[in-house]
Amino acid sequence: MSDMKEYQDMRDYTRKSPLFDSHEHFNGIKDLAAALPGYDFLNGVNGMVFAEIMAAAGTEFGRVSYDKLTEESVQRLLSAALTTGNGLALKLFAQDFLEMNEVSAHTLPELNERVRSLVNKYSASELYDYMCGNCGIRWIINDDYRYMPFNIESIETDFPDFVYNTVRLDPLLNPADSAELKETERAYDTAITSLQDLEDLLEKRIRCIAEYPGTVSLKSAMAYVRALDMKNPSRQDAETSFNLMLNGRVFDAGALMDYLLNKMFSLAGELDLPVQLHTGFNAGIYGDFRNGNPLPLIPTLQRHPDTKFVLFHSSWPFAEQLGALGKAFPNVWLDMSWSWNLSPLSMQQQLKNWLGSVPSNKITVFGGDGWTPVWSAASALLAKRCTADVLSELVNTDYFSRRDAEETADRLLYKNGLELYDIKEQKE
Ligand SMILES: [Zn+2]
Repeated sequence: MSDMKEYQDMRDYTRKSPLFDSHEHFNGIKDLAAALPGYDFLNGVNGMVFAEIMAAAGTEFGRVSYDKLTEESVQRLLSAALTTGNGLALKLFAQDFLEMNEVSAHTLPELNERVRSLVNKYSASELYDYMCGNCGIRWIINDDYRYMPFNIESIETDFPDFVYNTVRLDPLLNPADSAELKETERAYDTAITSLQDLEDLLEKRIRCIAEYPGTVSLKSAMAYVRALDMKNPSRQDAETSFNLMLNGRVFDAGALMDYLLNKMFSLAGELDLPVQLHTGFNAGIYGDFRNGNPLPLIPTLQRHPDTKFVLFHSSWPFAEQLGALGKAFPNVWLDMSWSWNLSPLSMQQQLKNWLGSVPSNKITVFGGDGWTPVWSAASALLAKRCTADVLSELVNTDYFSRRDAEETADRLLYKNGLELYDIKEQKE
């Protein structure tokens, strides 16, 4: 078999495979329905490639805000940005869904028009089915933090049946001052006058998430604001901090947050709820992604051997380190959501490295991290294409047999996600 044929066969195989989607930020059917009449795909594309457009702008960015860039400069910057993974996602989407072969800054208006007329053939809930069905997305874990963490019950009806939810508890874990605590009291309709009250609320909430059929994991994006170097403070230290905070005094926020995080991790372990953690690169620009380094998590991973830690976004650019964590810690999973969009070529090398070092049941290769099923379909095609090419390369170098490659594809694209989040197929 020629090398190219192997690639094509594997691409066809993954194109038809079911796909598990570990991460989206969808806003539900009602919001999508409201957006559809004036749907502007280009706006969404600009949002997805925002960081790249701004990086392309160089110091021009410092002088002109994004909103004030002329149409002409957006075009110029976008054409530079389209050489990245997001550009490839767009090309694959244009070929597959729109029968358009050329994607450039010049053809984007036409692409936008075609997407608009395509999406307007469907109602919002049909669009979910069409976009996800077409690229094979069977199950989604959604992080719709508009609803979170107060209102678990209301999310169920606003999403298709194949969407599960992950829940962020950040406001409970990191109260900044007594005013914020008052808001939490109102939102949860409960008094919080002691650390014990806050702990009880946290525990009640986590138990409810574990029992509720539509919620399957916890999520934290704390790496946007702090390093992942949680300590193990005593309850007494946490209580001292809490009381100082309540009285408007200077307090040790780290002691309080770390104590509550450890509590959350323990409960998640006890109740078998996977914990999704943002690691690696930050969305946007000028973010300090040193906080995304997953290595400072090691003491936490050692402290909570019963808790499933799902480390997001391949921890890129710390992906090699993440591989070592996946090998050394049975309680770590490697999640490639958003990764192919961020850096498809290094991720292909990385997935190869991981397959050679980490058991293949620990890796999930897709999460679109998008706001609409349209962009997620583009990202799904990208993830499938890149995964296929990695496996083909391993077949061509005799590392895998063709059969190994297909079995591994099934795991990476689909089965590992079902296993990790304990999702039963018969729900269909
Ligand atoms: Zn995200």
